[in-house]
Amino acid sequence: MRHQPGVLIVEDEPAIAELIAVNLRHNGFRPTWAMDSVSAQCELDAVLPDVILLDWMLPGESGLTLAKRWRAAARTKSVPIIMLTARGDEMDRVAGLDAGADDYIAKPFSTKELLARIRAVIRRRAPEQASGVVYIGALALDSGTYRVTFDGHLLKLGPTEFKLLHYLMTHAERVHSRSQLVDKVWGDHVFIEERTVDVHVKRLREAMGENAGHMIETVRGVGYRLTVQSSPARPSPISA
Ligand code: CA
Repeated sequence: MRHQPGVLIVEDEPAIAELIAVNLRHNGFRPTWAMDSVSAQCELDAVLPDVILLDWMLPGESGLTLAKRWRAAARTKSVPIIMLTARGDEMDRVAGLDAGADDYIAKPFSTKELLARIRAVIRRRAPEQASGVVYIGALALDSGTYRVTFDGHLLKLGPTEFKLLHYLMTHAERVHSRSQLVDKVWGDHVFIEERTVDVHVKRLREAMGENAGHMIETVRGVGYRLTVQSSPARPSPISA
C-alpha cells in the first residue's frame, strides 16, 4: 500500500475547497479542510500534513501571516506551503515566497497544475516519501505503512530500529559514524550516548534475523554501514 500524502487546505470559500479536495482524493491524497486560521492551527496541532495549501485572503489572519508563523515554529517549519491566491502580480509572489512559502499558484488554476506543484514540493522536501518504498537487495522498507520485509517475510521492528534502518537504507553502502547516526536518527537536539547506537544496531540485527542482519556491517573504528554485498540481491515487493 502506498503512503497517501496528507494535504491541509486552508481556504474560506467552500466551493473552491471542495473542488480541490475532490480532485486530491481522486489522485491518491488525503485532504483535510480548514476554513480559517484558528481551525487550521487546530488541524496542525493534531496532525502534520505533507503539504499545506494556503489561501492568501482569509477572514482574520491572512495567509501571509500564517505562512510566516508556521515557518518560524519548530513543529511546522519543514512542512511545504503552497500559497493560493487571486493576486497574480510579482510583488505578491515575492511577498509570499519571502514569508516562507515553497511555491505559489494564482487562481484560477488547473487541477493538473496544482497536482504537479504539490508533487514537486513533496519530492523536494521528502524524497523518500515520494516513492514510499525503499529496496536494498531483498530488503524492502515502506515508510508509508511502516512495514519492513526481507525476502517477502515481515520483520518486526521497534520505532527507533525502524528509523535507524530507514536512514541506513536511504544512505546505503556508506559508512556512518555513531555520532552521525545520533544526529540523523535521534536528532541533534537530543543527548544520546554513542553506546546507545550500538544497542539499537544490535536490536535491529536481531529483529532482521540471521540473513538480513548481516547487511549491517560494523566498520571497525568508524561506525556502521548497510550493504547489499553480504546478502543475496533479490528484490521482493511488499504485499499490502
Ligand atoms: Ca479567500
